[in-house]
Amino acid sequence: MSTRGLVERLKNGECILNAEGYMWEFERRGYLKAGAFIPEVVLEKPELIRQMHLEFVHAGTDVVEAFTYYGHREKLRLIGREDDLEKLNRIALKIAREVADETGTLMAGGICNTGIYVVGDEEASDKIRAMFKEQVEWAVEEKADFIIGETFNDLGEGLLALEAIKKYGNGVPAVITLTPYIPDETTDDVPFPEACRRLEEAGADVVGINCGRGPRTMLPLLREIKKVCQGPVAAMPVPFRTTDDHRTFQSLLDPETGKSLYPLDLACAMCSRSDIRQFATEAKEIGIEYIGLCCGNAPNYFREIAQVYGRQPEASKYSPDISQSFIFGEKISKKYSSSDKLRQYMVSGKSTK
Ligand SMILES: [Zn+2]
Repeated sequence: MSTRGLVERLKNGECILNAEGYMWEFERRGYLKAGAFIPEVVLEKPELIRQMHLEFVHAGTDVVEAFTYYGHREKLRLIGREDDLEKLNRIALKIAREVADETGTLMAGGICNTGIYVVGDEEASDKIRAMFKEQVEWAVEEKADFIIGETFNDLGEGLLALEAIKKYGNGVPAVITLTPYIPDETTDDVPFPEACRRLEEAGADVVGINCGRGPRTMLPLLREIKKVCQGPVAAMPVPFRTTDDHRTFQSLLDPETGKSLYPLDLACAMCSRSDIRQFATEAKEIGIEYIGLCCGNAPNYFREIAQVYGRQPEASKYSPDISQSFIFGEKISKKYSSSDKLRQYMVSGKSTK
């Protein structure tokens, strides 16, 4: 596998696949608390981080992103673990670097929204600058190939992230993604296509959107962003069935009870693998060069994206082959006398009561 740099590969016409969604997946597995969403698992069970990186590489990711999402000063202070801030960042970065070296993938450092950005508040901006500076410097020291700044709902904070990567990143490329919620504009009132263009003009190597919306409601916005951006565009939706009436996964309702699903009950609104394949197909058609999934991502989804983008990751060895099923395989099921009745009981049998 190629280990050439991000920018070189994109300039060469290659696409980059990035598996995200670590936070949600660790919560699902019982190692991270929903609500605060802080990656303490990095300190407590680092071997699990390594394993999850390997699973996503197996499923086709080109990027191993250090699990530092919400591992910033503000969040660590919230749970009284500010003293562990640098340790958490360095462990996550070192694990990502090791996995990337072992697998020939790219390693990314990550910074994200701080929660304290306020338009026009210079004091808040200075605090954010200091938070980004320390995380970018740690990422550079731990030899990140590039740095991702993500889930910014304000363009202003996205620009601060880019500024920090430019200033302290020792020349590593910057990928900046904003999060679209229900309106087609950022919370500092900039339409997303314009916001992405401005990030690009300010020197981001890849710009785009991640999180917030599912494939169906992210695609129309991606088309608009593609029209105005010159360089590579990133697309990383959440794998949930968002609709025109409920554009974000935060706004989804339970189809049976009508109750809000976010954040604990979203499983009943997850995309199918076919939905993900369809998304990847459309994203490829409109020329998305940097693609992945955010909260809710899993290796079986990611393999779909990888294959649509022409890859055959190791996990392809275990791609589904229903023809081998003794119940649903068209040919093979004929060899088993019980198959017809079993299938009938499973999918079309009438209740006797
Ligand atoms: Zn997300």
